[in-house]
Amino acid sequence: MLTGAGISTDSGVPDFRGPQGVWTRNPLAEKLSNIHCYLADPEVRKASWQSRLDHPAWNAKPNPGHLALVELERRHQLHALITQNIDELHQLAGNSRDLVLEVHGSMRRFMCWGCGMRGPMQLVLERVRAGEEDPQCRDCGGILKSDTISFGQQLVPEVIDRAMQAAGEADLFLAVGTSLQVYPIAGAFDMARSAGAKAVIINAEPTPYDDMADALLSGPISELLPAIVTARESAARSLN
Ligand SMILES: [Zn+2]
Repeated sequence: MLTGAGISTDSGVPDFRGPQGVWTRNPLAEKLSNIHCYLADPEVRKASWQSRLDHPAWNAKPNPGHLALVELERRHQLHALITQNIDELHQLAGNSRDLVLEVHGSMRRFMCWGCGMRGPMQLVLERVRAGEEDPQCRDCGGILKSDTISFGQQLVPEVIDRAMQAAGEADLFLAVGTSLQVYPIAGAFDMARSAGAKAVIINAEPTPYDDMADALLSGPISELLPAIVTARESAARSLN
């Protein structure tokens, strides 16, 4: 299973890369997410902290699409949940932290660029609310940021390795709400296919892998996923 922004849009978290995406409409927003600009420019950091305070994901709740994946896990049919999302809505919905592989990190944690310390983001946001415009690490004085992968920043190799391994072990690979254009993780699709998995794509927009999918579904993910999960259960029941 691979999920992208499309599964969270029905929870009110905007798709940052899609055609209506925040970055597509506002190039300045993309600058805030570039690691080189972020580290070099205190003004970029100040603006980033303000936008973190206001991030729509803080008020977002998991939708029926997320809950359908919890049901899959409950039935032991979910081997791994690779996600490009940073909102932790899968974990909030009830999926085990062990199963969720966050290839782009999480906005709910902070990290220190100096010493690597991590912790709950709300602790730092409280300091911003109290008036610190660009809070620094209390241990080493380093630059703090969200524990997400910014543009220009290295992915975490262990997470990518685990994701690729899980994709290679799947019988069925579902790609949900992702444009499959962000590498290397889009390659999980190839990995699963070449290892013999069936592949299903559920996305509002076309993806480069549509021709290789065994099935292609387009529509509201928060309706399609619960329908698929229910259909699988009735199919299993009628076989028994
Ligand atoms: Zn530090």
